[in-house]
Amino acid sequence: MNAEMMKELRLKMLNGEWSSVCTRCFETEKNGGNSRRIIENADYNHLIASLKEKTKPDGSIEVEFKSIDYRLGNKCNLQCRMCNPFSTSNWIKDWNDIKTKSEHLSVELADYYSGFNWPEESYLFDELREKLKGVQRIHFAGGEPLLSPQMSRMLKEIIALGYSRNIIVSYNTNITVLPKEVLELWKQFKEVRILASIDGFGEVNEYIRHPSRWSVIDKNLCYLDEHAEELNVSEVIVSCTVQIYNALSIAELFDYLKKFKKILPVLNLSNLFYPEYLSTQVLPAEAKKEATRRLEKVLQDLNERHVTHKYLVDNIQQTIAFMNEKDCTHFIPQFKKTNAAFDKKKNVKLSAVLPDLNKFLINFTLDQLVQESDSQGN
Ligand code: SF4
Repeated sequence: MNAEMMKELRLKMLNGEWSSVCTRCFETEKNGGNSRRIIENADYNHLIASLKEKTKPDGSIEVEFKSIDYRLGNKCNLQCRMCNPFSTSNWIKDWNDIKTKSEHLSVELADYYSGFNWPEESYLFDELREKLKGVQRIHFAGGEPLLSPQMSRMLKEIIALGYSRNIIVSYNTNITVLPKEVLELWKQFKEVRILASIDGFGEVNEYIRHPSRWSVIDKNLCYLDEHAEELNVSEVIVSCTVQIYNALSIAELFDYLKKFKKILPVLNLSNLFYPEYLSTQVLPAEAKKEATRRLEKVLQDLNERHVTHKYLVDNIQQTIAFMNEKDCTHFIPQFKKTNAAFDKKKNVKLSAVLPDLNKFLINFTLDQLVQESDSQGN
């Protein structure tokens, strides 16, 4: 709470300045979306004035923790295309074979990511016990938090200390696993909220989130939908990272949500910023036009069905605005190169899974060749 970085960040915020670590919220709000900053500020609005008062001139503050957000290392069972070795150790071995030179990992950095054992350190648990009083919410993200032994251990410690009934536990999870032991622990907490990261329907998700299996994800979501009450699960939202791969096919994922009772019928859309060559801004103009048309149709359908959850619905417009904000087609060669290398290693083909995207990329390349030969002719 009082690390140098946090003190500086706090002072900048009080000064009305955006820090570079806040890019995601800044960009989301710039395009009229609801950022995590806006959502958290609404939750803690009643505390803001007193927290400002308690902040010392050097940016430090002494208050009880209300909310804790853990990323317990980089152990994950997936190797999503947009991910990196910091978040999944599965990327370490393949990284330099697939990525372009400018992104390569040094041997030292690869070793560092391979040895991410700090979640096993006892100080983490000492600190948790010390700060628990007054905590209302604990969030876990990844790696894959449902596979983390430290996450389970933390839940057990919280239960043993008698705080679990006051605490909401939430997760960002790839929803490929639902360990029985964890499901049992959830029943001891105030409530559980799930943000399930899924980036496409069926094989689109399998292509982006390698080597996940759609049948497993579907089975787990159905289980949560059916048993939410007994598991103490108060909210399940499917969260989709909008990127070059799925901008044209998100409507199918929206359609898939129609079958659920408990899972919200609207996706939580968030734009991908890094790596830049996977952003929707890289799509050729014609592809953006088509993706915009399809997303607007989704919006119309949600409005006709009178689907609420306004902050999620509003984010669809924000996704469209972000995609069309600038032309980043200069990243297409880097996208093609890294994507082809990934496809080759995993023995899959973009043209087979994402024919629409493939067609737009081919047309764009052909147009460029024509333009080049025209300019040479002139
Ligand atoms: S599930 Fe999350 S942490 Fe795991 S590879 Fe995918 S994006 Fe990375």
